[in-house]
Amino acid sequence: MVTPKSSIKTLKLNTGALIPQVGLGTWRSSEEEGYNAVLAALKDGYRHIDTARCYGNEEPVGRAINDFMKQSGVQRSDLFVTTKLWCTEFKDPKAALERSLKRLHLDYVDLLLMHWPLAMKSGEGLFPRNADGSRKLLPFEEWSYIDTYKAMQPLIDLNLAKAIGISNYNIPKIQALLADKGVTVKPACLQVELHPYLPQQELVDFCKAHDIVVEAYSPLGSSGAPLLKEKVINEIGEKYGVSAATVIISWAVARGTVVLPKSINPVRVSSNRKIIPLSEADMDAINGIQKTTSRRFVCPDWGIDIFNSDGHFKPMN
Ligand code: NDP
Repeated sequence: MVTPKSSIKTLKLNTGALIPQVGLGTWRSSEEEGYNAVLAALKDGYRHIDTARCYGNEEPVGRAINDFMKQSGVQRSDLFVTTKLWCTEFKDPKAALERSLKRLHLDYVDLLLMHWPLAMKSGEGLFPRNADGSRKLLPFEEWSYIDTYKAMQPLIDLNLAKAIGISNYNIPKIQALLADKGVTVKPACLQVELHPYLPQQELVDFCKAHDIVVEAYSPLGSSGAPLLKEKVINEIGEKYGVSAATVIISWAVARGTVVLPKSINPVRVSSNRKIIPLSEADMDAINGIQKTTSRRFVCPDWGIDIFNSDGHFKPMN
């Protein structure tokens, strides 16, 4: 029996700032759930909260953060707050971030991520569709993810974002971004789907070599946490007397990524921040899971540019 300990580990971003390795995810939480989960998490000791424009919960998330700071005396500088620029707002990231900050009731975010490396038509809601049901995407030639990134860069000097980063990129897209002469600020973070069914080791190694911190989203397999049924994970959990969630989150921390489990249940919120040391044999066993089961859970239709139909990254863009 091993007693899991609350994670206070941080990683250093290429800006010099520290990012707590375990953060609370907030996707698919209603206003009330989001508020309660964030407040419970902060009271429990979380200092890292991940939200996004398109989750529709920046307002309750920000309210919980502000209420917590008032109640506890914890300073804004002790918290790490991420939001994400949505694809319909890529042509004017400054105005979009200012709107996010207004909803969050914050002066700045610690990290602004470009949510997906593709732009959607603006002015028709968050998920514009063509008559045939397909997404209204802007052609790369009209507005590319590199154009968006360049427009995000000044937000740092304006003190609206302490750092900027990217999400749902593959290696070719990061290479294209880094190779562009107009890109003068290296992304601080890459946030992608990462778990034992999709460990993306090559991408993790690539980012490490380029001093980009990798954040693991949907670490439990997203809605319903399907990874928690995995046999190998449960065997390791039983060996140490801890939950399958603790094993997965501990694995993500041990491989040097940030991990963002989402829960609206205060007991699970609290237990998700607790990690255990895993042996080399445990790590090997978890790393081996993808040889038999390989799966992506977040594969929206606008990811068509990035993923094959089986949910794996296309080798080239
Ligand atoms: P997760 O992999 O974190 O899984 C969430 C699910 O697991 C929920 O159903 C939750 O239920 C359940 N759960 C959480 N902890 C436990 C536990 N200890 N035991 C049992 N069940 C548990 O999914 P997400 O897809 O939400 O990913 C995490 C975060 O990553 C998001 O919330 C978001 O912040 C970010 N994200 C970013 C994306 C991007 O494009 N950049 C895309 C997807 C996610 P319950 O709430 O009832 O506990």
